[in-house]
Amino acid sequence: MMCPRCMQCDAKFDFITRKHHCRRCGKCFCDRCCSQKVPLRRMCFVDPVRQCAECALVSHREAEFYDKQLKVLLSGATFLVTFGDSEKPETMVCRLSNNQRCLILDGDSHHEIEIAHVCTVQILTEGFTPGVEKDIHTYTSLLGSLLASEAGSTRATGMFLQYTVPGAEAATQLRLMAGEDANGSKRQAAAWLAAMHKATKLLYESRDQ
Ligand SMILES: [Zn+2]
Ligand SMILES: [Zn+2]
Repeated sequence: MMCPRCMQCDAKFDFITRKHHCRRCGKCFCDRCCSQKVPLRRMCFVDPVRQCAECALVSHREAEFYDKQLKVLLSGATFLVTFGDSEKPETMVCRLSNNQRCLILDGDSHHEIEIAHVCTVQILTEGFTPGVEKDIHTYTSLLGSLLASEAGSTRATGMFLQYTVPGAEAATQLRLMAGEDANGSKRQAAAWLAAMHKATKLLYESRDQ
Protein backbone atom coordinates (compact mmCIF):
# COMPACT_ATOMS: atom_id res chain seq x y z
CA MET A 1 0.00 0.00 0.00
CA MET A 2 1.33 3.45 -0.93
CA CYS A 3 1.43 5.46 2.24
CA PRO A 4 3.87 8.40 2.15
CA ARG A 5 2.52 10.26 5.20
CA CYS A 6 1.35 9.55 8.74
CA MET A 7 -2.42 9.12 8.65
CA GLN A 8 -2.75 10.98 11.95
CA CYS A 9 -0.36 13.98 11.93
CA ASP A 10 0.50 14.01 8.23
CA ALA A 11 4.29 13.82 8.84
CA LYS A 12 6.14 12.69 5.74
CA PHE A 13 8.00 9.39 6.06
CA ASP A 14 11.74 9.35 5.42
CA PHE A 15 14.86 7.79 6.93
CA ILE A 16 14.30 9.60 10.23
CA THR A 17 10.51 9.50 10.42
CA ARG A 18 9.87 5.80 10.01
CA LYS A 19 6.59 4.24 9.06
CA HIS A 20 4.77 1.95 11.50
CA HIS A 21 1.57 -0.02 11.09
CA CYS A 22 -1.04 -0.20 13.80
CA ARG A 23 -1.49 -3.91 14.52
CA ARG A 24 -5.17 -3.42 15.01
CA CYS A 25 -6.41 -1.25 12.11
CA GLY A 26 -3.37 -1.72 9.83
CA LYS A 27 -3.10 1.99 8.93
CA CYS A 28 0.26 3.79 8.63
CA PHE A 29 1.52 6.14 11.32
CA CYS A 30 4.71 7.81 12.45
CA ASP A 31 6.39 6.58 15.63
CA ARG A 32 4.81 9.29 17.76
CA CYS A 33 1.25 8.53 16.61
CA CYS A 34 1.60 4.78 16.95
CA SER A 35 3.66 4.40 20.09
CA GLN A 36 1.35 2.63 22.49
CA LYS A 37 1.88 -1.08 23.01
CA VAL A 38 -1.29 -2.74 24.22
CA PRO A 39 -2.31 -6.40 24.43
CA LEU A 40 -4.71 -7.34 21.66
CA ARG A 41 -6.10 -10.61 22.89
CA ARG A 42 -8.80 -11.42 20.43
CA MET A 43 -6.28 -11.50 17.62
CA CYS A 44 -4.11 -13.94 19.53
CA PHE A 45 -1.19 -11.60 20.17
CA VAL A 46 -0.05 -12.45 23.67
CA ASP A 47 2.52 -9.68 23.94
CA PRO A 48 1.67 -6.00 23.65
CA VAL A 49 1.79 -4.80 20.06
CA ARG A 50 2.13 -1.37 18.52
CA GLN A 51 -1.19 0.42 18.00
CA CYS A 52 -2.38 3.88 17.02
CA ALA A 53 -3.99 6.07 19.67
CA GLU A 54 -7.56 5.35 18.62
CA CYS A 55 -7.06 1.59 18.57
CA ALA A 56 -5.03 1.65 21.80
CA LEU A 57 -8.00 3.18 23.59
CA VAL A 58 -10.34 0.42 22.40
CA SER A 59 -7.78 -2.28 23.22
CA HIS A 60 -7.17 -0.83 26.70
CA ARG A 61 -10.88 -1.07 27.40
CA GLU A 62 -10.96 -4.64 26.16
CA ALA A 63 -7.94 -5.60 28.27
CA GLU A 64 -9.55 -4.07 31.32
CA PHE A 65 -12.67 -6.01 30.59
CA TYR A 66 -10.79 -9.28 30.28
CA ASP A 67 -9.02 -8.77 33.55
CA LYS A 68 -11.92 -7.68 35.69
CA GLN A 69 -15.21 -8.65 34.15
CA LEU A 70 -14.45 -12.03 32.68
CA LYS A 71 -13.84 -13.54 36.12
CA VAL A 72 -17.26 -12.30 37.22
CA LEU A 73 -18.99 -13.74 34.15
CA LEU A 74 -17.24 -17.10 34.49
CA SER A 75 -18.06 -17.51 38.18
CA GLY A 76 -21.78 -16.83 37.60
CA ALA A 77 -24.64 -15.65 39.80
CA THR A 78 -28.08 -16.78 40.90
CA PHE A 79 -31.17 -15.49 39.10
CA LEU A 80 -34.87 -16.07 38.83
CA VAL A 81 -35.14 -17.22 35.23
CA THR A 82 -38.29 -17.15 33.11
CA PHE A 83 -38.38 -18.80 29.69
CA GLY A 84 -40.82 -17.47 27.07
CA ASP A 85 -44.22 -16.66 28.56
CA SER A 86 -43.88 -19.23 31.32
CA GLU A 87 -45.54 -17.98 34.49
CA LYS A 88 -43.24 -19.51 37.00
CA PRO A 89 -39.60 -18.40 37.29
CA GLU A 90 -36.98 -20.97 38.13
CA THR A 91 -33.99 -20.31 40.38
CA MET A 92 -30.88 -20.89 38.30
CA VAL A 93 -27.18 -20.14 38.29
CA CYS A 94 -26.16 -18.35 35.10
CA ARG A 95 -22.54 -18.23 34.00
CA LEU A 96 -20.41 -17.87 30.93
CA SER A 97 -18.85 -21.12 29.72
CA ASN A 98 -15.07 -21.50 30.01
CA ASN A 99 -14.65 -21.22 26.24
CA GLN A 100 -16.74 -17.97 26.39
CA ARG A 101 -19.09 -19.20 23.68
CA CYS A 102 -22.18 -20.09 25.74
CA LEU A 103 -24.31 -18.87 28.59
CA ILE A 104 -24.97 -21.84 30.85
CA LEU A 105 -28.07 -21.96 33.05
CA ASP A 106 -28.24 -24.55 35.78
CA GLY A 107 -31.17 -25.26 38.05
CA ASP A 108 -33.68 -28.11 37.98
CA SER A 109 -33.10 -28.01 34.25
CA HIS A 110 -29.95 -27.26 32.24
CA HIS A 111 -29.74 -24.87 29.29
CA GLU A 112 -26.90 -23.74 27.08
CA ILE A 113 -27.34 -20.66 24.91
CA GLU A 114 -24.74 -19.95 22.26
CA ILE A 115 -23.63 -16.31 22.38
CA ALA A 116 -23.57 -16.29 18.57
CA HIS A 117 -27.32 -17.06 18.58
CA VAL A 118 -28.23 -14.17 20.89
CA CYS A 119 -29.94 -11.44 18.90
CA THR A 120 -31.09 -9.03 21.63
CA VAL A 121 -29.68 -8.16 25.03
CA GLN A 122 -31.48 -5.70 27.25
CA ILE A 123 -30.31 -4.84 30.74
CA LEU A 124 -33.21 -4.07 33.02
CA THR A 125 -32.52 -1.42 35.61
CA GLU A 126 -34.20 -0.25 38.79
CA GLY A 127 -37.62 1.22 38.14
CA PHE A 128 -38.36 -1.04 35.20
CA THR A 129 -41.34 -3.32 35.64
CA PRO A 130 -41.22 -6.31 33.32
CA GLY A 131 -44.27 -6.62 31.11
CA VAL A 132 -45.13 -2.93 31.32
CA GLU A 133 -44.81 -0.82 28.20
CA LYS A 134 -41.23 0.13 27.41
CA ASP A 135 -40.11 3.19 29.32
CA ILE A 136 -37.13 4.76 27.58
CA HIS A 137 -35.63 6.04 30.83
CA THR A 138 -35.35 2.70 32.51
CA TYR A 139 -35.07 0.41 29.56
CA THR A 140 -31.75 -0.03 27.85
CA SER A 141 -31.55 -1.40 24.37
CA LEU A 142 -27.96 -2.35 23.76
CA LEU A 143 -28.59 -3.17 20.13
CA GLY A 144 -29.53 0.44 19.57
CA SER A 145 -26.91 1.66 22.07
CA LEU A 146 -29.75 3.60 23.68
CA LEU A 147 -28.76 5.16 26.97
CA ALA A 148 -25.99 2.62 27.33
CA SER A 149 -23.73 4.94 29.27
CA GLU A 150 -26.51 6.20 31.54
CA ALA A 151 -27.51 2.67 32.40
CA GLY A 152 -23.99 2.03 33.64
CA SER A 153 -24.61 4.25 36.64
CA THR A 154 -27.98 2.69 37.42
CA ARG A 155 -28.17 -0.58 39.27
CA ALA A 156 -28.98 -3.47 36.99
CA THR A 157 -31.70 -5.75 38.30
CA GLY A 158 -32.24 -8.08 35.40
CA MET A 159 -31.61 -8.99 31.80
CA PHE A 160 -33.83 -9.78 28.87
CA LEU A 161 -32.43 -11.98 26.11
CA GLN A 162 -33.73 -13.09 22.75
CA TYR A 163 -31.95 -15.91 20.96
CA THR A 164 -32.57 -18.28 18.13
CA VAL A 165 -32.55 -22.03 18.44
CA PRO A 166 -31.48 -23.90 15.28
CA GLY A 167 -34.60 -25.37 13.68
CA ALA A 168 -37.04 -23.14 15.57
CA GLU A 169 -38.89 -20.41 13.69
CA ALA A 170 -39.36 -17.74 16.32
CA ALA A 171 -36.73 -16.38 18.67
CA THR A 172 -36.83 -17.66 22.23
CA GLN A 173 -37.17 -15.15 25.05
CA LEU A 174 -35.51 -15.37 28.38
CA ARG A 175 -35.68 -13.11 31.42
CA LEU A 176 -33.22 -13.14 34.30
CA MET A 177 -34.04 -11.24 37.46
CA ALA A 178 -31.77 -10.83 40.47
CA GLY A 179 -33.30 -12.86 43.29
CA GLU A 180 -34.78 -11.34 46.43
CA ASP A 181 -32.92 -13.68 48.76
CA ALA A 182 -29.63 -13.14 50.60
CA ASN A 183 -28.04 -9.74 50.03
CA GLY A 184 -24.72 -11.28 48.99
CA SER A 185 -26.18 -13.16 46.05
CA LYS A 186 -28.09 -10.08 44.92
CA ARG A 187 -24.89 -8.06 44.86
CA GLN A 188 -23.24 -10.85 42.92
CA ALA A 189 -26.14 -10.84 40.47
CA ALA A 190 -25.84 -7.06 39.98
CA ALA A 191 -22.07 -7.41 39.37
CA TRP A 192 -22.71 -10.21 36.88
CA LEU A 193 -25.27 -8.09 35.01
CA ALA A 194 -22.90 -5.10 34.93
CA ALA A 195 -20.16 -7.32 33.47
CA MET A 196 -22.62 -8.69 30.92
CA HIS A 197 -23.60 -5.13 30.01
CA LYS A 198 -19.97 -4.21 29.31
CA ALA A 199 -19.38 -7.44 27.40
CA THR A 200 -22.36 -6.74 25.17
CA LYS A 201 -21.17 -3.20 24.45
CA LEU A 202 -17.74 -4.47 23.44
CA LEU A 203 -19.33 -7.17 21.32
CA TYR A 204 -21.44 -4.70 19.36
CA GLU A 205 -18.60 -2.17 19.08
CA SER A 206 -16.35 -4.82 17.58
CA ARG A 207 -19.15 -5.98 15.24
CA ASP A 208 -19.51 -2.37 14.05
CA GLN A 209 -15.85 -2.01 13.10
ZN1 LIG B 1 -5.03 1.68 14.66
ZN1 LIG C 1 2.15 10.92 13.15
